[in-house]
Amino acid sequence: MKKVIYPGSFNPITYGHVNIVERGLELFDHMVVGIGTSIDKDPNTYLKDRIRLCRESLESFGDRVNVVGFNGLLVDFVKSNDTRFVLRGLRTLTDYDYEFQMLEMNRQIEPSLEYVLLPTSQKWSHLSSTRVREIAALGGDVSPFVPPCVSEYYRDKHAIPD
Ligand code: ADP
Repeated sequence: MKKVIYPGSFNPITYGHVNIVERGLELFDHMVVGIGTSIDKDPNTYLKDRIRLCRESLESFGDRVNVVGFNGLLVDFVKSNDTRFVLRGLRTLTDYDYEFQMLEMNRQIEPSLEYVLLPTSQKWSHLSSTRVREIAALGGDVSPFVPPCVSEYYRDKHAIPD
């Protein structure tokens, strides 16, 4: 059975991520979505909320997908899951630079891992979690970009007075 790790911040999960999961499952039998906390990418959304929203959004894939949180180094997380494959999505040239820098660094730490970079579907190529958070923070409707449980999450949050 071929297993792959799909790591990221998923802050929040978007239809771009869901698309990568769906297409990744054409290449691998089982996927572990590993939710880490990126210092660069607003770690304020609670990890447990990000995990719950990912689980709900990916429910339809059944037991082929597991969603877990992780701390620490990606390479250690991958090895602890008894695999050596890492899946990432590519949108733009900026992603390309970022991904290559990250994977080259990780290769220095652990040469045995292999990286699969899936180009985004054009429909979602401009979609990012950061933009979704911005729109949500300003009270906009994010439902075109994220699964229903995520837009509900932001709607409820917005309804709570400060
Ligand atoms: P990270 O902080 O690790 O970059 P993200 O949640 O932002 O975490 O992204 C996780 C992975 O999903 C990355 O490989 C990213 O390129 C990919 N990804 C994010 N948004 C999209 C999208 N719209 N289309 C395809 N891949 C995407």
